[in-house]
Amino acid sequence: MALLRLLTRLGMVAAMLVLLAARPVAADDHVVPTHAPACHAATALATSLAAMGPRAGWTCNDTGWRSDVPAVWLRFEARDWQQHRLPRYFFARNARFETITFHAIDKGGAVRSLVLREADGTPFAAGPVFQLPLPAITPATTALVARIEAPHSVPLLTEARITHDPGHADWSQIDMMLLAFVAGMLILPLLFDISFFVVLRERFVVLHAAMVSAMMIYVLTAGGLASAFVTLPVPVMAVAGALSWAIGAGLSALFLAHFLERGAQSGTMRHVTIATGWFTMIVPGFFALQLDATQRFDDVGYFVAFLPAIIVFSAAVIEALLRGSRSARFIAAAWAPIIAASSERLLRGLGWHTGPSSLDQMLYVAIGIEVVVISLAIADRFLALRRERDAALTEAKMLEQLSARDSLTGLMNRRAIEARFDELLAQGYDTFALVDLDRFKTINDVHGHQVGDAALVACASAIRSSGDRDAVAVRLGGEEFVVLLRGPRPLERAEALRQAIPLRIAKEVPGLDLPVTASMGVVVLADANAHKMAFSEFYARADALMYEAKASGRNRMAYERLTVFRSAPEGRRKDERAA
Ligand code: GH3
Ligand code: MG
Ligand code: MG
Repeated sequence: MALLRLLTRLGMVAAMLVLLAARPVAADDHVVPTHAPACHAATALATSLAAMGPRAGWTCNDTGWRSDVPAVWLRFEARDWQQHRLPRYFFARNARFETITFHAIDKGGAVRSLVLREADGTPFAAGPVFQLPLPAITPATTALVARIEAPHSVPLLTEARITHDPGHADWSQIDMMLLAFVAGMLILPLLFDISFFVVLRERFVVLHAAMVSAMMIYVLTAGGLASAFVTLPVPVMAVAGALSWAIGAGLSALFLAHFLERGAQSGTMRHVTIATGWFTMIVPGFFALQLDATQRFDDVGYFVAFLPAIIVFSAAVIEALLRGSRSARFIAAAWAPIIAASSERLLRGLGWHTGPSSLDQMLYVAIGIEVVVISLAIADRFLALRRERDAALTEAKMLEQLSARDSLTGLMNRRAIEARFDELLAQGYDTFALVDLDRFKTINDVHGHQVGDAALVACASAIRSSGDRDAVAVRLGGEEFVVLLRGPRPLERAEALRQAIPLRIAKEVPGLDLPVTASMGVVVLADANAHKMAFSEFYARADALMYEAKASGRNRMAYERLTVFRSAPEGRRKDERAA
């Protein structure tokens, strides 16, 4: 978690840097007025200035704005700027267009015209806006008429203004600071995502990182903040803003489908959510390009194509909430502000209601909230998944231990000793004592299997709890055991164990008519560290000794000491028996 703390600090530093970068944008506080058009009109391409007299089809209020027309005319009146310094610049919201032609009309009828193209526009950091120079406006100028050919968006028209100095246009310093703060806030979740992905290789973490990146591009371009750092062409700003929003929204749907817990979504809803994600990236994404061929309908097309996303997001979150999803609660909290703010933006984009661009601030704040709340949701999921993983690990360990134990006696079983044999040999367990109970079948036959089992348990406790710390007891199977010993006097200690068995069984299993004795075959390997011998070889040798012990009357031990010489060049091995 120290990493998280470090990342938090880095994020805060990044946010402050962005704030500092945005600061010079509007350093001067005195306000330079901007002037809105008095009237607007939509016409065919061929309509000339001469036809746009006072009796042409002008609309002189804030209604009836359309961008799906070949040309839009804006009329600025001298009476609006008379009390102020003469306007020198036009500015409007970033969007694509073909040309903007200005006509400055003087009292005597003289007209100065200037035709400008998209490439002449200069985006500047006071909102998502660009500026164009005006033809000379003089005290004799009575009106300025702007003809915008092939506008691709309504806000390009409704937010068009003229001013003496666009450096102070539209957005206040507070607006830009807020935007910079949101952009800085987005860096933090990206860093979180990277650290989460290192631990949790879940697809939703990658989708979230992609979504946050798209939102960051959106805030920088659609919010106009990018212009504080670089001057990008108007079409780049206009397309990047719209496109990153479409991609971000589409990725949010994919994120939703992958982030919700299993069972929080019906199969159909999951498919619809994923399909809506791709649809939102592709269809509004296409209209975001604002191609010449789609000018008539790309504004409406772009906004309408978001409707499925808004509907499906809401339905999917409601369904998951009804199914008791914890993640859905986070998502509902995160997305409610975005859905509210983007619905407002949608209505404004469609021209159904007009409002200042600064309303966009709501959307940026909503994006900030969304990203922070979703990051919390991911952190929450991260902890839950870790808890699950820890529980699974504990269970796996338990199962492994169980599979290494004999269920009747609790001793290590044959599988476990075979797996650990080399390790134990290397640790110095060089004595292999095979134990077999004598005439055990009779115990079962006379007293029954349950008594036999009790005798086996007693035998196991005799060899386990002998107080010998350098002994490892194993039940190989049936009434056959192995004790591995290390340290001095192995034969004496093995014999002591063997003799403890009948006493322990007699004590723990009363009512047996005869003592249950044990026979032993013991192999001691001198200098085990220098020589490796396999479990099977020890077993075979000990078994042969066991046979000898049984054959010579049972209730005794047979042993051998082995010294294994290094392999001779011809590969022969000599065993020495020194018993
Ligand atoms: P000896 O080893 O002295 O030659 O005679 P034995 O009677 O012990 O002969 P053997 O090793 O062939 O028989 C082992 C018997 O141990 C067979 C079976 O009835 C009994 N046995 C094996 N596993 C279990 C067990 O888990 N529980 C009980 N109660 N008996 C078992
Ligand atoms: Mg036996
Ligand atoms: Mg046996």
